[in-house]
Amino acid sequence: MNKISIAVLTLLFISGSVYAQSQTVEKVRDYRQQNEVEILSKYLSFLKIPNIASDLPNIKRNAEYLINEFEKRGASMELLTLPDKPEVPPVVYGEIKTPGVERTLIIYVHYDGQPADPKNWTHDPWEPVIYSGSMQDGGEPVELPGAGEKVNPDWRIYGRSASDDKVPFPAILNTLDALRHSDIALTSNLKFFFEGEEEAGSPNVRQILERYKEKLEGDLWLFLDGPKHQSGRPQVVFGVRGVTGMEITVYGPSRPLHSGHYGGWAPVPGQMLANLLASMKKETGEILIEGFNEHTAPITEADRRAFETLPDYDRQIMEDLGLAWTEFEERALIESYMYPTLTIRGLESGNTGELARNVIPTEAVVSLGIRLAKGNDPGEMKDKVEAHIKKQGYHIVREDPDHETRLKHRKIAKVTRGGGYPAVRTPIDNPMAQQVIEAIKNATDENIILYPTFGGSLPLFHFEEVMQTPIVIVPIANHDNNQHAPDENIRIGNIWYGMDIYAKIFTME
Ligand SMILES: [Zn+2]
Repeated sequence: MNKISIAVLTLLFISGSVYAQSQTVEKVRDYRQQNEVEILSKYLSFLKIPNIASDLPNIKRNAEYLINEFEKRGASMELLTLPDKPEVPPVVYGEIKTPGVERTLIIYVHYDGQPADPKNWTHDPWEPVIYSGSMQDGGEPVELPGAGEKVNPDWRIYGRSASDDKVPFPAILNTLDALRHSDIALTSNLKFFFEGEEEAGSPNVRQILERYKEKLEGDLWLFLDGPKHQSGRPQVVFGVRGVTGMEITVYGPSRPLHSGHYGGWAPVPGQMLANLLASMKKETGEILIEGFNEHTAPITEADRRAFETLPDYDRQIMEDLGLAWTEFEERALIESYMYPTLTIRGLESGNTGELARNVIPTEAVVSLGIRLAKGNDPGEMKDKVEAHIKKQGYHIVREDPDHETRLKHRKIAKVTRGGGYPAVRTPIDNPMAQQVIEAIKNATDENIILYPTFGGSLPLFHFEEVMQTPIVIVPIANHDNNQHAPDENIRIGNIWYGMDIYAKIFTME
């Protein structure tokens, strides 16, 4: 074969595979459009199984349902349990291996849901109902049409866990069906990790990860959970902040004093605490505690490019909140998520308003919240705050000081350290994360939003610490899904969006 014909063939091959790529979503859509009613009525029956983590008999029914449905798609399924803790909701685990395929994606979904009090719901939380739109916007109950007919994508299913977090299941199962129907092969091995007690705080997930570590090995964890961006645009999230906190009490006289007889002479704990706090942080936001930022992961070029994908709502949020300024004026909200914070969560000393009296109180208390960025260790951050307090001349105690201790030290601070956990953040330029971004871009016409990290915290660090594998969060639910609240719902079009992007991810190059 001569060089030119090789080149032509190569070109044909490349354009052929690009063609096949762009066909995948269309084929999955075709399949879905012919089966919408069936897909939805199956999903409704799944939503009828109550799924609170503490309700073990029903949790087991959910697990059985998943095992059945995934086995039908050729997955080998099993339950991951802890032998000494039979009361723990099992992780439903599965594998679909594709011959000749190297890469393994681990798909995380949680099948348990938040508890729900039927009194506060329009309908029984576990008797899902379809509405013609959001209830708030005047949507009305509607019935599914006959088999084979199309369903309005703006319709919503109301029911517990409709969006958080059962919605990936119909999307995964029907994507697998649609791909098989069109003979499109998976390009990754898939492993499934379906947790049954996420909403109960995942108390056993670390033990399960440690016990089954070998089985759970793979190249990338995909967390299918959470809502799309409030603009409705697709979003991919690469991390979450960590969190910790502490309480500090400083002491004045051992009993409240008359502020006339002793004012201007006896130390005032409220004033001492105000000075201490002012020494920790400037009004402009800069934290003055030594080393507070030293291990914070730097912001990369890729992070900066990701910031650009976010719609700039900062002005609007400030207007909404009545704020004429923000800490670090030049720093956007999203950028602030990349740094550790020190926040006064509450302050107390004496009384105000009607209860204000002319006294010098005995103590002042502050509750400090610390949000952690990638690289910050929760224990070390608290050590740094403590070291700073010492540097201000304070003697640190763990219990209220006795009389002798009070006489011995000029300034005393009781420090009560809270628990906490670190942040998780996968670098956006991680090659596998880039492939997922590409896949989603190819599945949708809308501009994708890349969130280097959510502002909030989730204990994803267990997964990162035990598995040492990058994590990417790929949400599909509508942002107004009333997650954790009464009348939780999923917009049906968001299930279809899930199928589009999963199809691309499962077949990405
Ligand atoms: Zn969730």
